[in-house]
Amino acid sequence: MPKNTVNILYLYPKEMNIYGDWGNVLTVGRRLQWHGYTPKIMQLHIGKKIPADIDIVIGGGGQDSGQGLVEADLQRHANDLHKLADDKVPMLVVCGLYQLFGRFFKTADDKQLKGIGLFALETHATNKRMIGNVIVDTPFGEVIGYENHSGKTVLDSSQASFGSVKKGAGNNGNDKTEGAVFNNAYGTYMHGSLLPKNPNFADELIKHAVEHSGQEFEPNVIDDLFADKARAIAKRRPR
Ligand code: GLN
Repeated sequence: MPKNTVNILYLYPKEMNIYGDWGNVLTVGRRLQWHGYTPKIMQLHIGKKIPADIDIVIGGGGQDSGQGLVEADLQRHANDLHKLADDKVPMLVVCGLYQLFGRFFKTADDKQLKGIGLFALETHATNKRMIGNVIVDTPFGEVIGYENHSGKTVLDSSQASFGSVKKGAGNNGNDKTEGAVFNNAYGTYMHGSLLPKNPNFADELIKHAVEHSGQEFEPNVIDDLFADKARAIAKRRPR
């Protein structure tokens, strides 16, 4: 079967792109090419419309101030993002946007930044930052990343986590949960960039993106030697 275009949307690259989160877009794009498909990367900026026919949504972290800048605009897109998630479009939102995909993020100065409630969770700023390398057990094997957040996220009992923490703080440092999942939408605190070091998880998102574009996912074999080395080194790093 001929392999065609897959549409990638990155949310708010100016305000929400910290600790290399844009690398997740580059990884999805490059791995799509290695699998023989054609990635088309689009960016959502404040005040603009979400383009039609999006096959995967990616968003990153940012300062509290960046979250404040995108808060209202994100609300404008809440319905569209819910529809895409209901439609099993894969999504990956990291840290700042992960928090805003929950119900709210309460800042240290007691301001409530409203989220879109795609995940059943809430986040409260604390006076202690959770920083360091993270290893999480997930359905896609060990996922390795780097966290840096003051917000503590608590999942509703109905909300599934992305995985369970083997090393690091994860959602809150208490309950060993990390991230959240709804259909094929994932929220996580793991920067890194995350996807270059986690090809299994990257290909899981890519598979759903390709299928959403109306194509079959027929992967090529990719040599992940450098990703494997990066994983091995990251695993040995102190916290
Ligand atoms: N402001 C959030 C926190 O510190 C998000 C940080 C981030 O995106 N890295 O909890």
